[in-house]
Amino acid sequence: MEGPPKPWPTGLSEQVEPLVRRVLAPNPSPYTYTGTQTYVVGNGPDVAVIDPGPDDPAHIAAIEQAVGDARIAAIMCTHTHRDHSPAAAPLAAKSGAPVVGCAPLVLDDSGPRADAAFDRTYDPDRVLAEGEAMTGTGWTLRAVHTPGHTSNHLCFALEESGALFTGDHVMGWSTSVIVPPDGDMAAYMGSLEKLAGREDRVYYPAHGPAVDKPRQLVRGMIGHRRQRENQIVRLIGEEPRSAAALVPAMYEGLVPRLAGAAEMSVTAHLLDLERRGMVARSGETWTMN
Ligand SMILES: [Zn+2]
Repeated sequence: MEGPPKPWPTGLSEQVEPLVRRVLAPNPSPYTYTGTQTYVVGNGPDVAVIDPGPDDPAHIAAIEQAVGDARIAAIMCTHTHRDHSPAAAPLAAKSGAPVVGCAPLVLDDSGPRADAAFDRTYDPDRVLAEGEAMTGTGWTLRAVHTPGHTSNHLCFALEESGALFTGDHVMGWSTSVIVPPDGDMAAYMGSLEKLAGREDRVYYPAHGPAVDKPRQLVRGMIGHRRQRENQIVRLIGEEPRSAAALVPAMYEGLVPRLAGAAEMSVTAHLLDLERRGMVARSGETWTMN
């Protein structure tokens, strides 16, 4: 989970397969890798824009340039983290296109789910249920519900080519960060199993390179999370401790700025183990049941 190896060009439209172009937003960070990748789907008179990204005028202009003379039939968001959906509203206002895809998160202002990373401006015209599709000339994008990274996360399957747009659910460069309580480890594992049972040809994640051996990667991720869970059970069995104290024992050589994300993932595992009756908590300290 080091930073990006080299700067990638932002603002350019890159053809990744006949029906799919990619535009990289200028928002690299330890959490976004080289930045958010917006995908333009379709090569006819109408296109879909997937994960328009941050509300950055230069990025929105780059998307418009990639779209060219085509009409935007739908602006589709995989989920509402602030590196994915905030450009939806300004792009919709400029193009007249509907915002279609994941549900808005119902956030209680004072509650624990009111996470700073969520885009509260997101206001979709249509929410896609499991299996519902948006269609245009030569393309069909079907919603695959994949809660876990967030409770509202969707992937979109491009039926004509066998590609799956995986948002932040499955990425080649890093495992997904699960931030409880909206992020949910059990739901995430269920959504990994769901993808393991599909026959997608390639994944296009919102961050990092395309994944051309999808099932192999997903099976590896399932194994990795089970290993992490076993590690937590073993460490707590040896000595009760807090999530923060588990991190250095579990992640060797962790970049300090990612310690917070690692602690979130450990906490997500602990909450899942607690729900299954395997561990208990008193204050910050976790013990085996
Ligand atoms: Zn995200």
